[in-house]
Amino acid sequence: MLPQDKNPLLDFSGLPRFADIKPEHVAPAMDQLLADGRATTEAAVRAKPTWDQFVAPLEDANERIGRAWGQVAHLHAVMDSPPLREVYNANLPKVTKYWTELGQNQALFEKYKALRSSSEFSKLSSPRQKIVENALRDFRLGGAELPPEKKKRYAEIQEELAGLSAKFSENVLDATNAFSIYVTKEQTAGIPDDVLEAAREAAQKDEKQTDGKGWKFTLHMPSYLPVMQYADDRALREKMYHASSTRASEFGKAEWDNAPLIARIVPLRREIARLLGYQDFAEVSLVPKMAKSSSQVLAFLDDLARRARPFAEKDVEELKTFARDELDLQDLHAWDVAYASEKLRAKRYSFSDQEVKQYFPEDVVVRGLFRVAETLYQVKIHEAKAPLWHPEVRFFEVRDTTGTAIGQFYMDLYARETKRGGAWMDDAISRRRKRGQIQNPVAYLNCNFSRPLSSPSGNKPALFTHDEVLTLFHEFGHGLHHLLTRVEDLGVSGINGVEWDAVELPSQFMENFCWEWDVLREMTRQVDTGLPIPKVLFDRMLAAKNFQSGLAMLRQIEFAVFDMRLHSDFDPAAGRSALALLEEVRKQVAVLHPPAYNRFPNSFGHIFGGGYAAGYYSYKWAEVLSADAYSFFEENGVLDPKTGARFRDEILAVGGSRPAAESFRAFRGREPSVDALLRHNGMIAA
Ligand code: ZN
Repeated sequence: MLPQDKNPLLDFSGLPRFADIKPEHVAPAMDQLLADGRATTEAAVRAKPTWDQFVAPLEDANERIGRAWGQVAHLHAVMDSPPLREVYNANLPKVTKYWTELGQNQALFEKYKALRSSSEFSKLSSPRQKIVENALRDFRLGGAELPPEKKKRYAEIQEELAGLSAKFSENVLDATNAFSIYVTKEQTAGIPDDVLEAAREAAQKDEKQTDGKGWKFTLHMPSYLPVMQYADDRALREKMYHASSTRASEFGKAEWDNAPLIARIVPLRREIARLLGYQDFAEVSLVPKMAKSSSQVLAFLDDLARRARPFAEKDVEELKTFARDELDLQDLHAWDVAYASEKLRAKRYSFSDQEVKQYFPEDVVVRGLFRVAETLYQVKIHEAKAPLWHPEVRFFEVRDTTGTAIGQFYMDLYARETKRGGAWMDDAISRRRKRGQIQNPVAYLNCNFSRPLSSPSGNKPALFTHDEVLTLFHEFGHGLHHLLTRVEDLGVSGINGVEWDAVELPSQFMENFCWEWDVLREMTRQVDTGLPIPKVLFDRMLAAKNFQSGLAMLRQIEFAVFDMRLHSDFDPAAGRSALALLEEVRKQVAVLHPPAYNRFPNSFGHIFGGGYAAGYYSYKWAEVLSADAYSFFEENGVLDPKTGARFRDEILAVGGSRPAAESFRAFRGREPSVDALLRHNGMIAA
């Protein structure tokens, strides 16, 4: 075993030492931390049932495990490499086993019950009371009340599920990386210049260009999406679509096929639910959430689907007519939808994503984003130095008006082969009071945007599409939730302990600012002319905002209904596949139907590789809250610092220390209403 000062994963004195962490550090660090955790648990079981005697030391030990393993998991997600993947997978079962054991520790459960019924409980602060209540709930859900043989089975399932989930994500990444296509100049017709430049660079790097095929495209979003939107070559679009929609399926390498994993994950989740005395996994998943039952969620989704459907049908009719009359596309195929939509939008609103993108260079966007946060929440954000995992990562510090540091965050914005897809925020360190000192929170913000071009034709900054700007604001919203908390106890500070279906409130809330003229004119600069975005272009963007909003909403609902039914009324023992269920859901919900070979579930990482199982509806659920919260800003002025302070105080600062429904009422002064969401989507009159 390495001494503490030699193993950076055992150094908790400050920021993670990313420059020093090596795969060989992982096992010794985790072994030591897990042993410490077990020793602490044993001592806690024998201690007096008071906060200081047994909760506090446990929190310390478990925080260290969470922080160290968090760094490993983060690197696995953003700097994947064969040796790191190997140690991650080798250590994952140990870590999973530890948390399962802890969650099932009967003696510890009794200790929490004793604290709950002691006279000390009423003297605890309300965040601490909430932590104790959450712990009791989680012990029940963790199987602490089960007899020994069922406990053992529960632990086996959790361990297997953790491995399946990691493998699911790896398969998607490997299958994504496995595909690339080299094309000729003619095949690139219609694709924007900067995308072509990146494709050219990628091909040159491979030194594989033959027969004039000097442009390389991949299934990573910054490469894939522009092909689907702009490539005039229908065959190229079809090929790319086929490759993307069959990733990690039986049509590719057998070892990357996620179907067998899905067929294992779903029944295992059902088994967990049954062990705990619930009917299905959705019931288990909903216990710590705002929504009360799968039928409530399905009714909520059904209501939205009915409202969105007429708009979606109109969207499709218009698109089909346009594609037939103006693009000579007789049958609209799945690989034509983005292409025809972009052409229709460009024609109807006279602008293209590509034109808009020229106004969003990275530096201006990032500064504009910070300005919104600074104005609303009375903070200052500055770039700072820290050990990083990649030279393209940036690091920032948040300070309050008195200049006191309150948090820090990393930004890792560009796509690369070693990073998993999508965009997400994660916590590196959570805010808490420790031995009288406040420990400031630290967040990771990860995206998959296009990087700046390094070709000799000039040093252009990275340019973001408006969609990417929305994504950046979204993730930063999660970051603010984590960073602006005032809670001093780990279990409910920042996003910790916040109901899953309320977690997207602060993030989706932030997206609204990307549609405000007062905000946008300050955060745009045409990359060649240096001019801000013209009002007339902004007005066209705004007019186009709800272009195909019916289609987009139905698509989200389709995924959410599939997820909820898969984990509730779907019987995994009946021999039906998840894909067959998705087809049934599509028949009820969708207005556009993909080709039969589409294997969407095989890359649905949210529910099979991440934590969204029986929780995908959360996006729409929280959007009701975020839209309604934003409508308060619309009433008071969108950059009104007083309303901002109220949002910070009642929503961001309180974290999970009270129920989200209560926080919402405290901010808005009433129950949430779906009206603002419908209005923002153009589905009821303003
Ligand atoms: Zn989010």
